[in-house]
Amino acid sequence: MDCLFCSIIKGEIPSTKVYEDEQVYAFKDINPMAPVHVLIIPKTHLSSINDVTEENSAVIAHIYAVAAKLAKDFGISESGYRVVSNCGADAGQTVFHLHFHLLGGKKLNVEMG
Ligand code: AMP
Ligand code: ZN
Repeated sequence: MDCLFCSIIKGEIPSTKVYEDEQVYAFKDINPMAPVHVLIIPKTHLSSINDVTEENSAVIAHIYAVAAKLAKDFGISESGYRVVSNCGADAGQTVFHLHFHLLGGKKLNVEMG
């Protein structure tokens, strides 16, 4: 299967890794929208939130724990940050490997719809 983020996990496409364990991979977004803009992705390919089930959802809780750890590492846990996952066309999803944006380091725009 041809997937950009699967290729990044395999190291076939370069990325700036900030964290990795057996379940997840995290790296800097190539087009940062904030001083801290990291993408956290499951190593198992899921296309979007639409693919999350009771059977595979444990990794999502783990991703939030990694987000909290990275927020601390990047010094934004107290100033604040946002974790978002875009699903589908109306949300503007462009890469169809489930990913969570961790954004912070500035006052973020409040745009909830
Ligand atoms: P989304 O619009 O939610 O699907 O987000 C996809 C994100 O992936 C965008 O913020 C892109 O800047 C980012 N992105 C695309 N290609 C790469 C890449 N090769 N390395 C790092 N981030 C990327
Ligand atoms: Zn993938």
